[in-house]
Amino acid sequence: MQESQLLKIANEFGSPVYVYDGHKIENQYKRLTSAFKNVKKLKLNYAVKALSNISVLKLLHSLGSGIDTVSIQEVQLGLAAGFKPEQIIFTPNGVSLNEIEEAAKLGVKINIDNLSILEQFGAKHPNTPVCIRINPHVMAGGNANISVGHIDSKFGISIHQIPHILRIVENTKMNINGIHMHTGSDILDIEVFLYASEILFETAKQFDNLEFIDFGSGFKVPYKPGDIETNIEELGKKLSKRFNDFCKDYGKELTLAFEPGKFLVSESGYFLAQVNAVKQTTSTVFAQVDSGFNHLIRPMFYGSHHEISNISNLKGRERFYTVVGYICETDTFGNNRRINEINEGDILAFKNAGAYCFSMASNYNSRLRPAEVLWYNEKAHLIRKRETFDDILHNQIAVDFSEQKETVAAK
Ligand SMILES: *Cc1c(COP(=O)(O)O)cnc(C)c1O
Repeated sequence: MQESQLLKIANEFGSPVYVYDGHKIENQYKRLTSAFKNVKKLKLNYAVKALSNISVLKLLHSLGSGIDTVSIQEVQLGLAAGFKPEQIIFTPNGVSLNEIEEAAKLGVKINIDNLSILEQFGAKHPNTPVCIRINPHVMAGGNANISVGHIDSKFGISIHQIPHILRIVENTKMNINGIHMHTGSDILDIEVFLYASEILFETAKQFDNLEFIDFGSGFKVPYKPGDIETNIEELGKKLSKRFNDFCKDYGKELTLAFEPGKFLVSESGYFLAQVNAVKQTTSTVFAQVDSGFNHLIRPMFYGSHHEISNISNLKGRERFYTVVGYICETDTFGNNRRINEINEGDILAFKNAGAYCFSMASNYNSRLRPAEVLWYNEKAHLIRKRETFDDILHNQIAVDFSEQKETVAAK
């Protein structure tokens, strides 16, 4: 998006505000589908937790996407956005059997990653097909060595427990319709991902009634100029071929599924905040904005990098700033950044603000959560109102202690 357009949106809707470029989401969706155009049945299930606004879901629905959900509320949200149950997969971790049953009742695809739950679910609902989340124990090391990692991960059922899965399937007569993995790590080395895929294929051979194999996500997106990103096109070429060969061996055209979150929405997002004050200290110049980690927690939580630019003064000379928030705690967005000269009142834009930004926002410091705007078809659509003070009090219950005080005083 153009800076002038972002600035217009900040002027119209106020700050702080999240802006999403719907065209970028669309392009990323098309880029991924075209990388896998040689696979007959491809399904992208957008990971809702990355950015869960209902209008973003509706946009993805219109593109033909399915969704990946991790809570019953995300399932409900997906249904409210117009997804059919069969376009939704429920991939929870650590939830109760009850919640999984609730999702199954709604008709969505079920993905189970725990032997105990698998056995209980299979015993009670042998006719409901279930996908199994495998932990292949593969991760990329610092220099792309393949190492047996994630042994301590709470996700998935270990590949070493396949015999136990098979025993449960045999005992309960349940139907396994999919095999899934999501290692969660940034896929930098495609070979490592392909290696994990081989483990998934080996596992898939053990089940006769599969409909799909789900390779999860973990595509890395660029955060700054020169950043390495997953080479989707190369992955598409290599994995498609391998997948098609596998289907031939398996004797059935399976669906290849992915669940991208970041890849689809990260780069579409801009977070706009206004500079409240410029503060010179003995060692640095701080730019203090009208936001904080309550609205964008990734830098403080994960040490993530978000490019920051001053869209109010694009031609100003560059100076160094540390950009901080207004939270009463260390609250740094970016350290020692080169930014066009900042004046109080300027609007700063934070990039890569589509994934895990608004969806992780809170009311910490009793602040209001920002508005969200979706830019699509040359139009700025308000897709979430800025909160008001009423929202802060909404669920709170004020107990009146004044009478009690009088009784104490009377004693
Ligand atoms: C979070 C999550 C994703 C999305 O991961 P990204 O890195 O955002 O692409 C996919 N699948 C599952 C099961 C997840 O929990």
